[in-house]
Amino acid sequence: MSIDALPPLRQVIQTHELNARKSLGQNFLLDLNLTSKIARQAGDLSGSDVLEIGPGPGGLTRGLLAEGARRVLAVEKDERCLPALAEIEAAYPGQLAVINADALELDPRDQLTAPIRIVANLPYNVGTELLTRWLSPPEWPPFWSSLTLMFQKEVAQRIVAQPGSKAYGRLALLAQWRSDARIVMTLPPEAFQPAPKVHSAVVHLTALPEPRFPAHGPTLSRVVAQAFNQRRKMLRASLKGAAPEIESKLKEAGISPTARAEEIDLERFCALAQIIRAA
Ligand code: SAM
Repeated sequence: MSIDALPPLRQVIQTHELNARKSLGQNFLLDLNLTSKIARQAGDLSGSDVLEIGPGPGGLTRGLLAEGARRVLAVEKDERCLPALAEIEAAYPGQLAVINADALELDPRDQLTAPIRIVANLPYNVGTELLTRWLSPPEWPPFWSSLTLMFQKEVAQRIVAQPGSKAYGRLALLAQWRSDARIVMTLPPEAFQPAPKVHSAVVHLTALPEPRFPAHGPTLSRVVAQAFNQRRKMLRASLKGAAPEIESKLKEAGISPTARAEEIDLERFCALAQIIRAA
């Protein structure tokens, strides 16, 4: 059974000649039951505005609307998709607005009403860049209450990684400092048209009301970047130059100077950033 009265996505793509473009990272989801399932991972949408980045032919957009989103603001770079999206707009009067723009260039905040949930199936490079920006505003809490984002599985694992694992690094620390992050779905390549080479996963992040541990964002980010830049080195070497007398500062933060970055948890990195900043 279809989730709405609109034509199947295969037909939409054919009618509007939306042959997928690699340059825009276009791997479309065609199964509307699957897009509804992804929409449900974003939580109760009935009281929220949803910002969707990269709606393409509108599979996920239709899932979001069918699952009862109060309003969807969709930002799509490819103008070829606009006629297909206009058909969805007509089927859900007043609930969908589409902006033809590059999401990396646009600040859509003044067109959204809180609470705001962000949902997207984006190309890898754009997705990580936007995630980093959404997680790094100067003030917290951010303008969004949750992010539900498709990534290649390996990137999703880096977001939720714990100390001691290979995937643990800058992205895990950035995400987990001020949000709860979990993988809520994994998808095989065949779920997309055309099929990518890799598996994908949906990550759901909920903004915490305040950071898990106190720290100055830019200092934390600088220390973590430096520590993981040479992740196989001992911290007394990789953080040499991060601050004077780094060995004693590491000890003060409860970190062994001979430990490596991937052994150190978020709480200790925050403590170290505070000590470095205070000095
Ligand atoms: N949401 C659709 C789906 O799930 O089938 C399409 C997903 S496809 C992986 C990525 C979409 O993002 C494409 O429609 C592409 O044109 C769009 N896109 C790529 N770069 C973008 C950007 N910088 N800003 C906005 N949209 C972009």
